Amino acid sequence: MKKVLITGAAGFLGSHLCDRFIKEGFFVIGMDNFITGDRKNINHLKDHPNFQFIEHDITEFINFDGELDYILHFASPASPIDYLKIPIQTLKVGSLGTHNLLGLARAKKARLLIASTSEVYGDPLVHPQTEGYYGNVNTIGPRGVYDEAKRFQESITMAYHRFHGVETRIVRIFNTYGPRMRLNDGRVIPAFMGQALRGEDLTIFGDGMQTRSFCYVDDQVEGIFKLLFSDYSSPVNIGNPNEITIKDFAEEIIKLTKTNQKVIYRELPIDDPLQRQPDITLAKKLLNWEPKTSRELGMKITFNYFQELSDEELYKSEHKDFTNYIKK
Ligand code: UDP
Repeated sequence: MKKVLITGAAGFLGSHLCDRFIKEGFFVIGMDNFITGDRKNINHLKDHPNFQFIEHDITEFINFDGELDYILHFASPASPIDYLKIPIQTLKVGSLGTHNLLGLARAKKARLLIASTSEVYGDPLVHPQTEGYYGNVNTIGPRGVYDEAKRFQESITMAYHRFHGVETRIVRIFNTYGPRMRLNDGRVIPAFMGQALRGEDLTIFGDGMQTRSFCYVDDQVEGIFKLLFSDYSSPVNIGNPNEITIKDFAEEIIKLTKTNQKVIYRELPIDDPLQRQPDITLAKKLLNWEPKTSRELGMKITFNYFQELSDEELYKSEHKDFTNYIKK
């Protein structure tokens, strides 16, 4: 049985990856320190014979006895408000954490796939974003801690690949959504859905003309799975090119949730990218992959998930004072 270590296992993407690899017949070792992850995302795996969980902060040395075939590095805060709240941890997990995992991959002769991001393109001057675009990132802005950690992560991964011959894969993930996102993590889909469920107005940042392209989690996981088993070590974009303005998206959410909420406008956070759309030509060609789930279906499934959360979760406000974080 092949063994895979998944960091960030209690997070949104990490937990879906645990499920997928178990389904595919792997032995999965999940690792998380719960800084942004949640035990409930992996609770259903607790007693599974092919699942083991280790609570550990990967910015510290990782002791692991036994063999490993694959490592998937999905540990990181992933919401702009998290970066502002825990900036040092965000930098450390992308840099020191990745370094530790590369060392582990080298020692175990395991293949390592790292989760990179569309944020490496910053506020892009090229549209849609191809893997060849070097990006437009403000190193010292509030998002810089995430963007630069992820850029460093790509660099050190390529260095270990070239210098030490470690087998590596790099996925550049574009906005992905689905069940198990944190309702109050501040990102736009949980934010709008939480607001709709609580009967609050939907907060659009800026004029709402900024765009994003949202990928359903199952499509994302499929792309990552295929990339891991490809023989391509340079970065690959995985996302859904179906682009929408945040303003139109708010209208879609109001229709979907059948609420009568208004939208209200807030200041656009500093360095908030104005447009984002993945060019997935490479993934299509290389992996024979493209997203299959319509936004309509994906959002319906996601809304059902949020609807079933308890009132305690619904009203828990992790980022109650988030407007303080986004002030210029
Ligand atoms: N956004 C918004 N209202 C919210 C939360 C986010 O208008 O309550 C906007 C945000 O300014 C950004 C987009 O939605 O332009 C996507 O934000 P998110 O935090 O989900 O992720 P990002 O793609 O910026 O990393």
